[in-house]
Amino acid sequence: MSSSPLSSPSRRSFLRTAGIAAAAFPIMSEGHLAWAAMQQQTKPARRQRPAADANGAAPVMINANENPLGPCQSALAAIDASALTGGRYDANGGLDKLVTLLSQQTGVTGDVKLPEDHIAVYAGSSEPLHFTVLAFCSDSKPYVTADPSYEAGMWAAQAAEAKVSKWPLTETYAHDVKAMVGASPTAGVIYICNPNNPTGTLTPKEDIVWAAKNKPAGTVLLIDEAYIHLSEAPSCLDLVQQGLDVIVLRTFSKVYGMAGIRCGVAFGKPELLAKLQRYGMNPLPVTAVTAASASLSEADLVATRRKIIADTRNSTFKWLANKGYKFIPSVSNCFMIDTGRPGKDVIAAMQKQNVFIGRTWPIWPNHVRVSVGTPAEMAAFQAAFESVMSAPPATA
Ligand code: PLP
Repeated sequence: MSSSPLSSPSRRSFLRTAGIAAAAFPIMSEGHLAWAAMQQQTKPARRQRPAADANGAAPVMINANENPLGPCQSALAAIDASALTGGRYDANGGLDKLVTLLSQQTGVTGDVKLPEDHIAVYAGSSEPLHFTVLAFCSDSKPYVTADPSYEAGMWAAQAAEAKVSKWPLTETYAHDVKAMVGASPTAGVIYICNPNNPTGTLTPKEDIVWAAKNKPAGTVLLIDEAYIHLSEAPSCLDLVQQGLDVIVLRTFSKVYGMAGIRCGVAFGKPELLAKLQRYGMNPLPVTAVTAASASLSEADLVATRRKIIADTRNSTFKWLANKGYKFIPSVSNCFMIDTGRPGKDVIAAMQKQNVFIGRTWPIWPNHVRVSVGTPAEMAAFQAAFESVMSAPPATA
C-alpha cells in the first residue's frame, strides 16, 4: 500500500525542513488556551466575550493572566501618535529605537548590557517560544518541561513531532532541574518558566545556572521570564551574556499590560536567534514597538505595578487563608487553589456567576488557576468562590 504524500515520512521531513508543522496539533498561546478552557465549559456558538449579567455587571475575566491596568499613559499616547504613521511599515525607525533601549536596559536591574544583535523583537513572546521549540526539537530531540507549567511549548513540540518529557515540580514548587537535565541526552529544548505559569512560584537562580552549565551539549535552555517583573527574582539575562546556549524570553503582555498590543523579546546569541528566523519574520505593528519603548522609559512603572498586583494578590491570600482554603503562595499575577474537588466543576460553577477563572492541569485536577485582577474583581471572585465552595461538590 502506498502512503499518502501528506503523511509519508519524506513529506513530513520536508515540511519540517520548511519549518511547517506536519502534525495536526495547533500551536497555542495563553489567550487560546484560556478560551479553549472556557469553551469546554460553556460551549458558546462562536468565539465571543461573555455577556454582562442580569444586573448589567461586566464578566470578571481572571482566566488568562492579563493585566487589568492595561498599557500605561505614555504607551497609550505613543500608540495614538504612531498610528498616524501606520500606512508605512516603520516610518520612524521605532524598532531600532526599541532594540537600543532594550540593550541599554537589559536586566531587571539594568546591570547586564547585551549587544543589540543578541535581541530579537516579536509580536509577543509566543512566537519566539514556539519558534525555539520548532527550531530545536524534532522526533529525535525531545522537549523537556516541568509539570504543571505553561503548555504552549508542549503544543509546539507536538507539532514538531517531538516527544514531551514532563517532570513534576519539587515540593517547593520549583523546577526539578536535576531531573529535567537528566531527562534525555538528546533533548532539543529544556523549558524553565520563572516565575512558573500556573503556580507563580520560583526556581532558585542557582538551579537555573546549574541547568545551563550541565545540560547536554546541543540542548537549548529556554528560560521564560514572562512574569519576572512581577517578582523580585533575579533575571537570567547574564547567562546569555556569558555565551551559554540559552534563550531568555520577555513579554510586554504582563507587567506592562500590553497583551492585546503584542510585543515580546527573545535574548540569545546571534547564532541561536538566527535559527528562529526561518519560522517567520513579520514586520511589527508600529503601535506595539512605540508603546513598548514608552513603557520602558517609565522609570517607576515596574516597581509601582509590581506593588499594586502584589497588594491585591496578598490580600486575596489573606482572605483564602482566613476562610481555610488551600492555595499555593505565588509571587506572580496568578496562583493555584486546591479546591479538593474536580477543578473543572468549580470553574463551571464560577462561570455561572459570571466569574471566569483559569484552567486546570491534568497532573493536579483539583487545582484551579486564578489570575490577579483588580481589587473589585477579586471581591467578586471571593463572593462567587465562597458560594461555589459552600455548595456540596455534586451540586457544583
Ligand atoms: N510565556 C508564558 C509563561 C506565558 O504565560 C505567556 C502568556 O500568558 C506567554 C509566554 C506568551 O505571552 P505573549 O505572547 O502575550 O507575550
